[in-house]
Amino acid sequence: MYRITLFFVGFILFSACKSNKKASVDHEHETHTGVPAIVTFLDSLDASTAIIKDDTDSLFSKINAAEIQIQMKQNFDGVSEDEMKKKYAQFMKTQVSDWSNDEKMAMVKLFEEVKEMCDAVSPRIFPGGIRLIKGKTQAYGNDAFFTRGHNIFVPESIFSAKDSDRWKPVILHEVFHIISRYNTQVREDLYRFIGFVKMDKPVIINDLLKVMVLCNPDGMSVQYATEVQSGDKSIYVVPFITSKHGKYHTDKPSYFDYLNFDIYKLGDYGDHYKIQCDPLGKSLVPLSSTPGYFDNIKNNTQYIIHPDEIMADNFMLALIAFQTKDYSKFTPVGKQLIDQVTNRLQQM
Ligand SMILES: [Zn+2]
Repeated sequence: MYRITLFFVGFILFSACKSNKKASVDHEHETHTGVPAIVTFLDSLDASTAIIKDDTDSLFSKINAAEIQIQMKQNFDGVSEDEMKKKYAQFMKTQVSDWSNDEKMAMVKLFEEVKEMCDAVSPRIFPGGIRLIKGKTQAYGNDAFFTRGHNIFVPESIFSAKDSDRWKPVILHEVFHIISRYNTQVREDLYRFIGFVKMDKPVIINDLLKVMVLCNPDGMSVQYATEVQSGDKSIYVVPFITSKHGKYHTDKPSYFDYLNFDIYKLGDYGDHYKIQCDPLGKSLVPLSSTPGYFDNIKNNTQYIIHPDEIMADNFMLALIAFQTKDYSKFTPVGKQLIDQVTNRLQQM
């Protein structure tokens, strides 16, 4: 997920990539000339189905009562979680809009530029089958982009700005989430550059955190952890987002008002790991006292809530630097990470 004003940093991301062929605004994958389109636009009818069906990361089974109420901006006292999930699916179906021709043209231009940036590094980076959904902003707020399956949700609020250049980094960022979702090897190689490895046993969210977690559609997995020093011990931690409140508060209308981010320690329970916390759901190894996390992820981005977000930003930064040949803003460790990312992408 990405939005212009992030919850703890004022920074932007957007992302997109493209294939080798010329863009088209056709609804079909093939244009009239038989050339595959870079992206497909879903109308509101198709989008209303895709937004709840293309749920590769099982968001609809993981989302809890607190988050449903926060996104829908109303409380359902006395309603079962199953019923709430049905209401939420119905709600999401309404959160889509139709594209105007001008909007399509603007997106095609943007995606053409993004694809060119991907192709310059390797013609195999830009994923096929990207579908664009134009969406309403009630759930996550203005300017919040996210992906689901091959779909990129584009918030309708951006089109009033007419400043497409500022969306290019965000599109690059979002395209990375799709690449990562469907290319395990690339994902794991890139995660390793920031110290994240797939744990060898399932990572379970404990019962307390299950009711507190907020689901980032672009970073659902807790299976990837990073090793840090805590006191004289080496431990594995996962970044994790919880809600500050268990229900919707009318004086806090923005989704981003509820986000609480920290890193959490994994406990080894024999055949699985469990995310550990104190009785209030707080981290036992807060980020503020665990600087090793920052050593691992380097310092190219402050958007550090999930390895996929960290790497989506690094992907975006690597492609922009490759195009501009300007690496001046990176620190030595940051530049080293950008080089690793670029080299790995060139091998795709
Ligand atoms: Zn993201």
